[in-house]
Amino acid sequence: MLRRYSYVPKSEIAPVSRVFVNRSLMLEKVKFYGFDMDYTLAVYKSPDYEALGFNLIRDKLCEMGYPEAIADFEYDPSFPIRHDIHNIYPNKFDVLFATEYVHRKDGPLKAETIKGKEKYVIKDDRLPILLDRMRARGTKVFIATNSDYMYTNKIMSYLLDYDPTRSWTSYFDFIVCDARKPLFFSEGTILRQVDRETGALKIGSHTGPIQSGHIYSGGSVDVFSEIMGAFDKEILYVGDHIFGDILKSKKVRGWRTFLVVPELAQELLVWTDKRQLFAQLEDLDVMIGEIYKNLDSSCQNKPDISKIQHSIRFLASSDLKLENFHT
Ligand SMILES: [Mg+2]
Repeated sequence: MLRRYSYVPKSEIAPVSRVFVNRSLMLEKVKFYGFDMDYTLAVYKSPDYEALGFNLIRDKLCEMGYPEAIADFEYDPSFPIRHDIHNIYPNKFDVLFATEYVHRKDGPLKAETIKGKEKYVIKDDRLPILLDRMRARGTKVFIATNSDYMYTNKIMSYLLDYDPTRSWTSYFDFIVCDARKPLFFSEGTILRQVDRETGALKIGSHTGPIQSGHIYSGGSVDVFSEIMGAFDKEILYVGDHIFGDILKSKKVRGWRTFLVVPELAQELLVWTDKRQLFAQLEDLDVMIGEIYKNLDSSCQNKPDISKIQHSIRFLASSDLKLENFHT
């Protein structure tokens, strides 16, 4: 019976292609698929994109009066710091200011990304197929991104420019920019329509039905649900931000959620590669536990676990040496 479903054993699916679930989910009950854009639909090329961000911040710091010597600093992908840069560096306010400036809506990072999109953004020709298949049986697909219209338009046009007769907007039933997530999942902001020629927001809040191909700005989950006739449990939202995309939509609204974690692929690779080592280390750890478990309060002497400790150190260091040998 199983043979009918060209079953692929779990071990043969590349970690990067696996989906992990923490509860069962009937996909036929999903009537709305929603996507974040940055780092979800638009995946940036590593380490080129990080290097771009690094260089722009470095140049901004020079412009602000930092020593010329830092202009020679190069981005080192093996030294990544996530989010806590201002806890480590003493001049954290300068660095924070430069970082915020570079990432601003009208800042240089977005402008440079658009200019060099082939270098910085991953293009996947399966995306239009996926989006069309999702909608084939009446399921609706939408984007809710915090990016503004100008940037969203440029990036999505690039990602979905396979068919010259189709605009990227025709792949979606509803497009909202400047969503202000996580605020979008609570009170939200006023929903306005975007003038696609100028990028300007039309005056007054949008009323009436949503039209496919039109682009909206702001709004809230309540407005979205009302206009689309969506019930919270029918929505599956895909995003990369645990707080802005996932936690709020799930806790406040009960949306189904799908978190994109690119780092997991590397973690899994290490886990699979080093499984034997982890098992050996765990065995040794259990042995130490056993020795201590058999002690009682009358025992005067500390048990000798030095041999086991030695084995642990030996295993860990031989693995490191092997690692250095390979790289
Ligand atoms: Mg994102």
